[in-house]
Order: sequence, then C-alpha cells, then structure tokens
Amino acid sequence: MDSDIVMVDEKGKRADGREADELRPMKIEAGVLPNADGSAYLEIGKNKVLAAVYGPRECHPRHLQDPTKAIVQCKYNMQSYSVGDRKRPGPDRRSVEISKIISEALESVILTELFPRASIDVYIEIMQANAGTRCAGLSAASVALADAGIPMRDLVPSVAVGKADGKLLLDLNKEEDNFGEADLPLAIIPKTDEVVLLQMDGHMTKEEFDAAMKMGVAACHQIYEMQRDALRRRYSVTEEEEVEE
Ligand code: ADP
Repeated sequence: MDSDIVMVDEKGKRADGREADELRPMKIEAGVLPNADGSAYLEIGKNKVLAAVYGPRECHPRHLQDPTKAIVQCKYNMQSYSVGDRKRPGPDRRSVEISKIISEALESVILTELFPRASIDVYIEIMQANAGTRCAGLSAASVALADAGIPMRDLVPSVAVGKADGKLLLDLNKEEDNFGEADLPLAIIPKTDEVVLLQMDGHMTKEEFDAAMKMGVAACHQIYEMQRDALRRRYSVTEEEEVEE
C-alpha cells in the first residue's frame, strides 16, 4: 500500500525502535486466577491477555460429547474497552473464527483420547488489543492448559510475521498492521516444528513467505522459552530440576 507513513527507517529500525526480527517486550505469568483449573496472563507490547482453563469436565451441551475423546472448546473474546473505538460486545464473525482456529491448534497437542466425553474449556479475554491478539491468546492458553495439569505433547507458542514498507517484520504492532501489506499469524509445536496454525492476510511472494516462516518459527522458540520460564516460576522448578520426557 502506498502511504507517506514511514514504518522502517533507512537503518532498518522500526517506528517503535525494534529491529525487523525483534519481538515486542513480553511477559507471561501462570496461575493468576485461583478459581480456574489453570490460568495465565500474557503481555506482548500493548496487548494484555488473560486465559482461563476449566476441565476436563463433563461436556455441555451433551450432544457435543465424543465417546472417544475430549473436545476442546475455546472462547476468544475481545472486551469492549480493549480498543480505542469501543468494540461492540459479544461474539462476531471474527471472534468465532479465532476461537475455532485456536481450539484446533490446542486440540493438536492435548492428549484428548485420555478423557472421553469430556470438555476442556478455554477462555481467552483480550483486555487490551494492539494487533497480534490471536497469537498472544493462543500462547497464553497453552500455558494455562499446562497450569491446569492437562496432558499435552508440548506447549504452543504463536506469533505473527508481517510485511510493511516492503520489508518482513516480526510481531506487527497496530500501526504496522493497519498500514502494512501482509500479516501471517502462525503457531508451532516446538519439539517438532510442526505448524498448527497458519493464516495469511494480504500478499507475499513465495520467497517472502519462506523467509517469514523462518522468522516466525525462530520467534516461536523464543516465546516457548518464556512460556516454560513462566511455568517454572509458578511451580518453583529450576531449569536443572526439570524432567525432560
Ligand atoms: P489480531 O489481533 O490477531 O492481529 P486482527 O488482525 O483481526 O487480529 O486485528 C488486529 C487488531 O485490530 C486487533 O489486535 C485490534 O487491536 C484491532 N481490532 C480488531 N477488531 C476490532 C474491532 N472490532 N474494533 C476495534 N479494533 C479492532
């Protein structure tokens, strides 16, 4: 898109001072909601996200029960006050889509076959939004699931890679997202680098796509370390004490 707004200067620095492949400052805390079976709070840049997990518990409505495995029901919700121009409350097409893709990404790591007929309910509340909330929500949700003691193959870190001013940029903020040319949210299973969420808004060449994937996967591994750190802090486990499977 042609615009007068400069998002990357001649030295390659972004308007917020980041390098092209740099994440926004990030913080994760596990176990923040005592009523929930598991929970996590995550900040990345101006995004502020809460995730709460209940279950495995009896699945309601019962016609959704699967006699062979648990189902994962995720509700992604953006609060009205999370954005400058008050979002209309309640579910909309976007939140239904995001809930579905996050449920599917989480289902691919949870050992659902251990809990026939059950439901694992994941609530994601976006309290402040500044682009990248689906990825922040998914990263937080997988920490909340681990905090709930739900057996999983791995955590699921997630981040978006975008393109603005013709350059690939990691973890777009709202301005970059608004005036940028493309956005590629992705999530992986770090143990195998299997991709469990991938969407694309806008256009990239094949070469750009490959480079964006590489940048995104590397950043997911960085987020993975922060997710694991949050869980270690929650359970006072040192890196040395951690038991690798
Ligand atoms: P993501 O948050 O995963 O990047 P989108 O690309 O759909 O998802 O949205 C980008 C950003 O646009 C959001 O993080 C939020 O800041 C803003 N936004 C999305 N939906 C709305 C809305 N209904 N009203 C106001 N702002 C919104």
